[in-house]
Amino acid sequence: MKKQNNHPLEGRKLYIPRMSTGAARAMAAAFQALGVDAQVSPESDAETLALAAGVTTGEECLPQRVVLGNFMKVMQAPDFDPSKTAFFLPTSAGPCRFGQYAPFLRKYLRDRGLEEVVVFSPTSSDQYGGMAEHVGRLMRTGFRAIVASDILRKCLYMFRPYEKIPGSADRIHDEGLDRICGILSDGSQPLKEQLIGLVQELVMFRDRIADLPLREPRGSRPLIGVVGEIFLRFNSYSNQQIVRRIENAGGEVWIADFAEWVWYTRHEVERKLRESGKRFSPGMAAAKYRRRVQHADEKTLLAPFRDLFRDRQECPVDRVLKYSEPYLPAQKALGEMTLNAGKTVAYYHAGCDGVADISPFTCMNGIVTEAIYPVISRDHDDFPARIFYFDGVPADLDTDLEIFMELVRGYRQKCKIKEQRIKNEE
Ligand code: SF4
Repeated sequence: MKKQNNHPLEGRKLYIPRMSTGAARAMAAAFQALGVDAQVSPESDAETLALAAGVTTGEECLPQRVVLGNFMKVMQAPDFDPSKTAFFLPTSAGPCRFGQYAPFLRKYLRDRGLEEVVVFSPTSSDQYGGMAEHVGRLMRTGFRAIVASDILRKCLYMFRPYEKIPGSADRIHDEGLDRICGILSDGSQPLKEQLIGLVQELVMFRDRIADLPLREPRGSRPLIGVVGEIFLRFNSYSNQQIVRRIENAGGEVWIADFAEWVWYTRHEVERKLRESGKRFSPGMAAAKYRRRVQHADEKTLLAPFRDLFRDRQECPVDRVLKYSEPYLPAQKALGEMTLNAGKTVAYYHAGCDGVADISPFTCMNGIVTEAIYPVISRDHDDFPARIFYFDGVPADLDTDLEIFMELVRGYRQKCKIKEQRIKNEE
């Protein structure tokens, strides 16, 4: 594909927020395929939060402070040039603070005379920020980037707790990610060839990780479903490396993937069209077409993992929402709270031994689900489900985790005894 001209990103470096490093790198590669000089925003650390603290009021949620602080790091670099910089910041009109990220950043820039910096928040109403010409390819490649990085992460978490040589699963994951990004960033490839190339790389990755020498059999550890606020779930700095800590405490993690949010937003678009009497409308036809195309891409990318993911099938989003119905009905309680409640039930049915919900302190989603989990737990054999709050302040997470893991082990033992009793009765 030829490099595009006269769009707002021409001649600029576009910084992608580092939600998960894998997904952010893959998304940057999707932009690179359009000729955009995209790269992932800097790693988060104490400086990130210190910078954000200087300009925020304390009302902002942790993800907003992390994203802002990392963009501020870019602006503090000696070679920062506002006329050559853009920040990627998707937006939403929803009730949570996510919709405030971009306006807040714009105000920050305005107050400092840095209006030349582009805050790139593409929506259909602004012709996708001047990128309308390539939006089809960007959305297609971007979704493939999300699915491919979800697959790599899922495999990493399935194998890493059992690896014989410390670091070997991470190495295979990182090399697989490099190769996937290489394909995604190649704008000369037609979309069909891109998909074939991605599948070939994923097959090679699968074979390498499945060959990893293990020190204990896979599946011998308690399986912890991880749900929660999407940024925090994937940003290991913000969640104090919770996945590693669960692994260090003897567990294995199955994290709700990134694509789940894409399917949820698709589901919501169609629901709103139906409820506004547009069941048969061009908008609905376009929404259904997009869903079918993305579904086909996802199916193709997942096909080589049919066997490996036999006991890691993602619950379709409409079933997740059905599961949440008795607790937080999707028509009344929007967003992550309903997804996380439903996903907890889905993890119970999928054979997990417990669920950890990762939530920013003061986020409404976590506050609501925390109140709901005891009821879900009571309705599902005392399935352990608990929330872990984060606010950027190092806390003694290990003690809390150890208590949670004790509950999980007790539940697992109880399930084994029940299984054995059923077998004996047969
Ligand atoms: S869901 Fe909560 S933490 Fe995430 S952006 Fe919204 S308010 Fe912030």
